[in-house]
Amino acid sequence: MNGSAMYKLGYGLYVLSAKDENKDNACIINTAIQVTSSPNRIAVTVNKNNYTHQMIKNTGVFNISVISEKADFSLFKRFGFSSGLNTDKLEGFEGWLRALNGVIYVTENTNAYLSGKVEREIDLGSHTMFIADVTDGEVLSDVPTATYDYYHKNIKEKPPVNEKKKGFRCKICGYVYEGDELPADFVCPICKHGAEDFEKI
Ligand code: FE
Repeated sequence: MNGSAMYKLGYGLYVLSAKDENKDNACIINTAIQVTSSPNRIAVTVNKNNYTHQMIKNTGVFNISVISEKADFSLFKRFGFSSGLNTDKLEGFEGWLRALNGVIYVTENTNAYLSGKVEREIDLGSHTMFIADVTDGEVLSDVPTATYDYYHKNIKEKPPVNEKKKGFRCKICGYVYEGDELPADFVCPICKHGAEDFEKI
């Protein structure tokens, strides 16, 4: 099996947001799709370790904000590379509004948002798939949606030209693990992706 074949699948990128009684939180996912049009339903798949996952479990509501090609790496760092458990990901960030379901959505460098009300959950081991009725939504700009491929080619931070490091580079965020062998159970300290997303440099 050529694992690279998996990278040919096309994905969009989304800020998935949710809340609990006193906190808003959000993370980045590439796993949102429309599953049926009548009724209008979407599915999102979320890692169980994400704080956002627990919030959706508890409240049954979420929003996805569709990331546009205008987005820069800071949006991914803010929402993708830290846990909201110990930090407030919205601190110092004003590019959001609150939707009718009470959950925030991102208005900055996104082109639309959709509100979901969970109809069904599927336990997938490491992740849960939430299938949800679309209860609201709005177009926010005409800028094209950033695909995962676009992110890799245009948004992700490029490694410095004169970098002399040897080891393995995370293909998701660019983190470099220095060493001759990458442990099979290694997890990127920045973006939490596993050894399968590292390439030798
Ligand atoms: Fe990484």
